[in-house]
Amino acid sequence: MENCIFCKIIKGEIPSYKIYEDDNTYAFLDISNDVFGHTLVVPKKHSKNILDAESKTLSDVMSTVKLVSNHYINNCGFDGVNIISNNNASADQSVMHLHIHIFPRKENDGLKIFPEIEKHNFNLAEVCQNLKVK
Ligand code: 5GP
Ligand code: ZN
Repeated sequence: MENCIFCKIIKGEIPSYKIYEDDNTYAFLDISNDVFGHTLVVPKKHSKNILDAESKTLSDVMSTVKLVSNHYINNCGFDGVNIISNNNASADQSVMHLHIHIFPRKENDGLKIFPEIEKHNFNLAEVCQNLKVK
């Protein structure tokens, strides 16, 4: 898709630090330089996010997420990963090409990837009644 920064990265029009590539997916370092090894996995076929992607695209992307994550754990000295996806602007998606964030983790690395959210007294029976797929 024109003017999509990740489509340009996949085509090599914008440079990136490639971690892995296959026919359908591309994995590269996030430019933010925040967490060591912060990686993005994207499908080569443009879709906006998980919500509008074909099942095959999602399957391909998650296979690569699994492959890269296991590589980080088995070969690169990491102990675990956080895997995160922001979908739509309201959920902090800033680049509108489907991508999955991998944050490689080590025991006692002190990172807080998943935010600490204030606890509430939601009535879970009511929540479930409102939200269940009918
Ligand atoms: P989002 O906020 O949409 O979930 O994540 C988008 C991510 O893309 C951000 O973490 C941001 O640092 C990364 N990003 C934005 N532009 C570029 C770029 O040109 N190259 C790379 N490697 N990452 C980018
Ligand atoms: Zn794109």
